Amino acid sequence: MIDRIFCFVCRAFAHKVTGSIGRVDSAFTTRGTQASQWKEARKVLAKHQASTVHKQASLSYCDFLSLVPINMQLDRAAAIEACRLKEQQERNRQALYRIIDVITLLVRTGHLLRGHREGADSNNRGLFLEIVNLLSQYDGVLKHHFDTCPRNATYVSKDIQNDIISTLYHIMIEEVKKELHAASYFSVMMDEASDFGHKEQVAVVVRYVDRECVIQERFIDISSTDSTDAGALFQILLASIAKGWIEYR
Ligand SMILES: [Zn+2]
Repeated sequence: MIDRIFCFVCRAFAHKVTGSIGRVDSAFTTRGTQASQWKEARKVLAKHQASTVHKQASLSYCDFLSLVPINMQLDRAAAIEACRLKEQQERNRQALYRIIDVITLLVRTGHLLRGHREGADSNNRGLFLEIVNLLSQYDGVLKHHFDTCPRNATYVSKDIQNDIISTLYHIMIEEVKKELHAASYFSVMMDEASDFGHKEQVAVVVRYVDRECVIQERFIDISSTDSTDAGALFQILLASIAKGWIEYR
């Protein structure tokens, strides 16, 4: 057992501060202060504590304690970035909810979305852009979205409008198919009419009772045809069946 006194900070950090400020006292680093000097320990320790090397070594020790290891710094930066991305995603999602609601409203009520001139100088940019712009004047989420989003991620382009309408359509037909397939009985109505080009168009409508015992009528398909005899209409019905609308056993 070594019965000597060492200075922890000088042993660990004095090598970093020696040179210009003085010599490391080996009595506190490698050799240790002998037990015979312990009767003067207070005096010896006070002198060492006041030395420049010890003070600088103590500062190095404090610097070391305040340092965050690089892996922890990277983890912290990654966590902050992940948090920022999550917040951004939520803001984008909230803006998109509003845009989807406007499109759903216009489609449900049979209104055109687009205008003839949609530039910023147009006084009628179409119902969709006009309503979205009006909303953004009162809604902080949309305002923040348009103030900060990149020009290629406004979510109001014609392509996004078409994507949203297409997605709504697919969600809606899947729901109607589920209801229709769950119904015990249904009837099919088909009717034809000429369009502007004198081409016969045949609409297919199904009628059924849903789980809440409410009668539902759903327009499910439209096809053009050259003939409206029974055989041609039956072929159109078979085509609707092939699209999965009707379960045919
Ligand atoms: Zn020391």
